[in-house]
Amino acid sequence: MGRLVMKFGGTSVANIERIRNVARHVKREVDAGHDVAVVVSAMSGKTNELVDWCRDASPLHDAREYDAVVASGEQVTSGLLAIVLQGMGIQARSWQGWQIPIVTSDAHASARILEIDGSEIMNRFADRKEVAVIAGFQGINPQTNRITTLGRGGSDTSAVAIAAAIRADRCDIYTDVDGVYTTDPRVVPKAKRLDKIAFEDMLELASLGAKVLQVRSVELGMVHNMPVFVRSSFDKPEDIDPHGTPPGTLICSEEEIMESHVVTGIAFSKDEAQISLRQIQDKPGVAAAIFGPLADANINVDMIVQNVSEDGKATDLTFTVPASDYNRARDTITSSKDKIGYARLDSATDVSKVSVIGSGMRSHAGVAAKAFKALAERNINIRAITTSEIKFSVLIDAAYTELAVRTLHTLYGLDQA
Ligand code: ADP
Ligand code: ASP
Ligand code: MG
Repeated sequence: MGRLVMKFGGTSVANIERIRNVARHVKREVDAGHDVAVVVSAMSGKTNELVDWCRDASPLHDAREYDAVVASGEQVTSGLLAIVLQGMGIQARSWQGWQIPIVTSDAHASARILEIDGSEIMNRFADRKEVAVIAGFQGINPQTNRITTLGRGGSDTSAVAIAAAIRADRCDIYTDVDGVYTTDPRVVPKAKRLDKIAFEDMLELASLGAKVLQVRSVELGMVHNMPVFVRSSFDKPEDIDPHGTPPGTLICSEEEIMESHVVTGIAFSKDEAQISLRQIQDKPGVAAAIFGPLADANINVDMIVQNVSEDGKATDLTFTVPASDYNRARDTITSSKDKIGYARLDSATDVSKVSVIGSGMRSHAGVAAKAFKALAERNINIRAITTSEIKFSVLIDAAYTELAVRTLHTLYGLDQA
């Protein structure tokens, strides 16, 4: 007998029929003798609709009210799943974030989980084998007593945090793909499913655009050394061998991975914007004059490229910001124009970032150089490059994203045979 967290994403709870299917998965684990806490997302498309409603109501809405609205999708699915489970004769009770409570910071729309009291859920496991059905994505800030949400995709984080709080043996993330692939299988049909991936590699994949798991959930998994297993909710519960290993991907510590490849996977993000400042002065203090105000405005700058000036006087500087911060970033720079001193601001929003990830890069040279050559052969122009120990990223025209991802996927031998 063990203790499990089972998380189901939006497509897995998209309608009552799918919720019944989820309930059968839960029953399978209960019948096998496990204590189960389930975390659910809103029905697919629901959170987008709620976000749009807030924007329609007022483009500059109060973030506390945004959270009050967008947290409602998960309230509905948690209640519905509890009803269906009860109908199947399983003891079940729904929980909103505030009822547990899942205590978070007060950063509305991107709150961080600070603490979870799992004691009542565990008491109910012991007393009456009651399944806890928990609304993902939401929590409460104790100072303000207000509902908070954890940022898009946040139910993954709810699930891993709850798994840590109730000391679960494993956190199963059921989704609409049967695991983590070498790249998004919807873009590259030849992508391969990984049996295992190290937390470090998954963290990079997620933060560089693979939305299969929210970044924070991977961080929590790593911190608590909680095994996270990504698998499909579309497998028929009846067909699953209770003693076999189902298809899926285990996210675990690096030591547990026997065979390692130089490149683990490829991620991409179209949520990028590029800003170039032409003919800035090549002198001390200019970078501070540019990036200081951006930091003050809470804008994350990602890639930075500065040309070396030939005459020691003027140079160009290019950087990227998330597309959602583009307007604010441009306004911030233009309002400091006199202080920075530049001739022209050029920008592009139709750019994307393609990243190659692999902890094996630590000990292999020339991995990135191969990519630059392959992209050049496809006539794909690289606008900016960043590298770190276990990944590198290139900024390219968005129109070439799929071609670049497929090219690199083949180049590093990741294609399925
Ligand atoms: P859920 O609603 O279950 O949380 P998401 O839509 O958030 O599901 O995440 C699953 C999706 O992530 C998949 O449908 C897939 O298109 C996408 N994805 C992106 N990169 C990868 C990858 N490397 N492996 C698997 N899925 C990926
Ligand atoms: N429903 C939320 C979203 O769509 C949280 C989640 O699904 O993980 O972002
Ligand atoms: Mg998700």
